[in-house]
Parts: sequence; structure tokens; C-alpha cells
Amino acid sequence: MRRRRPLLLAALLAPLCCAPETSRPSNLLLITVDTLRADQLMCYGGPSGVGRSICALAKTGTRFEWAFSAASSTAPSVASLLTSKYPSEHGVRQNATFFLSDEHLLVGEVLAAAGYDTAAIVSNPVIGASRNFGRGFRVYDESTNRSERNRPAKFERDAAHTADAAIAWVQADARPPWFLWVHFQDPHGPYEPPNAPPERDAPGDEKLPILHQQIGLRGIPHYQQLPGLFSAAAYERRYRAEVRYLDAHVARLIERIEAFGGPVHVLFTADHGESFQEDAIYFSHGHSLGLEQIRVPLLLRPAGGGAASVVATSVSTIDVAPTLLTLAGVRVPAEFRGRPLPSPHSPTPSASSTRAIFAEQADQVATVVGDRYYSRQRNHSPVAIHYGRLLGLPRVATLRRDGSASAYSRAGESDQGAADALDAILAELQPVEGSKHRGVSAELLERMRALGYVEP
Ligand SMILES: [Zn+2]
Repeated sequence: MRRRRPLLLAALLAPLCCAPETSRPSNLLLITVDTLRADQLMCYGGPSGVGRSICALAKTGTRFEWAFSAASSTAPSVASLLTSKYPSEHGVRQNATFFLSDEHLLVGEVLAAAGYDTAAIVSNPVIGASRNFGRGFRVYDESTNRSERNRPAKFERDAAHTADAAIAWVQADARPPWFLWVHFQDPHGPYEPPNAPPERDAPGDEKLPILHQQIGLRGIPHYQQLPGLFSAAAYERRYRAEVRYLDAHVARLIERIEAFGGPVHVLFTADHGESFQEDAIYFSHGHSLGLEQIRVPLLLRPAGGGAASVVATSVSTIDVAPTLLTLAGVRVPAEFRGRPLPSPHSPTPSASSTRAIFAEQADQVATVVGDRYYSRQRNHSPVAIHYGRLLGLPRVATLRRDGSASAYSRAGESDQGAADALDAILAELQPVEGSKHRGVSAELLERMRALGYVEP
């Protein structure tokens, strides 16, 4: 494997240097949440009171109405967030079998080179240091405190312990200016927030079958199964209980950090969403690029707060890394594909300058151009054709001004512009082969495969 990191970082150090000495750079807090659908938060049209503290960031900051992840499963989407590249460019194409090659510069490395102290508190082992996600972080804490109910070999950490670890780092170890990334795992299934009140199916609710597979086609996927619960409505209530539990600890995290260290820039987003019953698929993600899976919340609250605003221009999670660097006064490396998030005062982009947003997974690709969402199959493999038929690809939807989206319809001639935009992105991509299996023992890989966690 080629190693160009030390040389590259040394070259970056001088030209990148940062904020003027007179103004001390602010600390940076990046919060990402696993499997958090935007539309389950009250500020994105979700149920009243759900995500109240998270949404409060928008009262003194900016809420991005239409933010999209570059992928719909954890490792590819988080790699895009850290590298500001699309999955086929950073090579982490699937969740469990690829690792993040040294070839790709990570946002933490750039900030560390510019003098930031860096730490990550991540609570999903899929993005562990063994997959090479820890580069650039002086501390990479991936401890876990419990295992999943139905997949005991899959460990995670709940929000209380995640927030505790993050607060402890700031209070005991951090040297300003610092960059702290916290990845919460809680809304990821199974939906079991600690000490949740009992839930039950309502009389008359349709009961779904429990499936033996990880994708919930017309039933509850095996890994999501909760004892005695069979209705979609009950699972959705449990999901929202997870979000409420998470929300309380996000609030505590920000409050405690600022009480100790003063104002901090906060950027909040998610790695991907979750299917509730879209396309007849229940409580899964990663199998499609449907809006419920790639639309994510994105909120940016500057240190000390600012005016409340909403940006309607579509943005991507590949814009997160350039935004953090811009907040730090650090130049954005040329290899970062994203752009700093637009400010609410930026002029509205004209139709001709509108950027096409892109997302991809193994067999599908999607774009958002202006108010149009468009997705289609990528290849002609039997699996792709199966899912393509199931999902009705190619398909389109309209993103409305009120923050809702239309139902999907079959793409037609009038969607040629979006199809062309997608083709243009695909032609411009410079895919890398990707690196497999480093740090994953054959035994662990076999165990993960047996659990259905490793793609074929
Ligand atoms: Zn995830």
C-alpha cells in the first residue's frame, strides 16, 4: 500500500496556517447521529417535541432544509463526511468489507496539522480505528457499553455514556483550540433506549411478520425484533423514544462543554436515515437511496450564536469538512470535493449555477438538482434489477418549498435534465478500487457474515 500521508501533511502545514494570531480560533464540535431521519425532528416537520434540543440549535443558527448524505449506510457515508469525497472516490463502498485507505486526507488530519487538538468519541464499531477512520485524531474513543439484543456480537454505546466520554475529554484532556467529533448510535435499531417505558401494539394495528433477514421487505427485519411488538406504529414510537433519549444527551453535551470551555461552533448532522415503510421495506437502511434514507438533518450554530435562519439550497454531507475548516480559518485542500455550506446571506444560486447533489450505493445512484430528486439503477446485476423493479427506478420526486417531498413518480422525458446531471457527475468521478479487510480478522469477518452484516 502506498503511504503519502506524512509527506502530504508536512506540505500542508505551512500553507494552511490558520487564523490570525490576534483572534483565538473557536473550538469545533461535530455531532453526527446514526440512522436519524430528518423528518422525525420537529424542525423538519416531525412530531411535536421530538428533537427539541437539537432543533433549538436553529434558533441561533442555520437549519439546512435539504441536506443529503452521500450514501445510505454508515461506513461509506461517514467516510464521505470525513474525506469530503463520494464513496467511489474514497473507496469505502460498503459497510463492513472496506477500510478507509491512507490515500485520502481526513478533516481531522488537516485540523491537527493546523494546530488543533483532536478527539473522536464514536459509538458504532463499523467506523472504528481498525477501519482506519481514526487518522488525525489524537484520541479515538470507540468504547462500547452494551451489545445489540438480536446480534450479541455487535456492540454499541448509548448516548449517556457517549456524552459522558465527550464531556470528560473536554474537561480533562482537551487543549484549545480543539476539534471534537461525537458520533451517537442510538436511533440505529433495535430501538431500545435505556429505561424506555413499555410499548405495545395498539388493537387493530396490522401485525407484521418477523423476518430472518436484515432488510425488512414486508416485515420486521431480524435485527430489529423487539419482544411482543409486531406493528409498524409501535416500532416508530420506539424509534422516536430513541430520538428523545438522544436529544436529552445532546443538550447535556453542548451545555456542559460550553459551561466548561466557552462558546463552541456546533455542526449537527446524521450519517443516513431509515426506512419506516417506504417501498414496503420496514426499519432498514442501505438498500436504496430513497429520500427517507439519504435526507438528513443539518444544523450549524456558530460559537456564541447568531440569527435564526433556514437555507433552502440543497447541500451534501461532503460539505461538512470544508465548512469545519472554514470555521477554523484553515484553507480547504483541493482534493476536498465539497464546498463550505452556504450562509443564509449568500445569494440564491441561479438555475444555471445550481450544483447537482449526488449519492450512491452499490447498485443505485441519485441526484438532486434544484427541486428535483432523481434516482436510478447503476448496473445490470440480478440484484440491481431486482431492487430496481421493487423500487420503481428510475424515479423522481419534487422537493416542495414547505420542506415536504412529493410522492415518487416514474422518471419521464421531462427529467432528462436530472438524468444528464447524474451522467455528468458519474463521468467526472474518479473511482478507486477500495481496500478490503485490513484490520478485520478472518474470524470476525466470518462472524459478521453469519450475522448478515457483511455484504456479499
Ligand atoms: Zn449508520
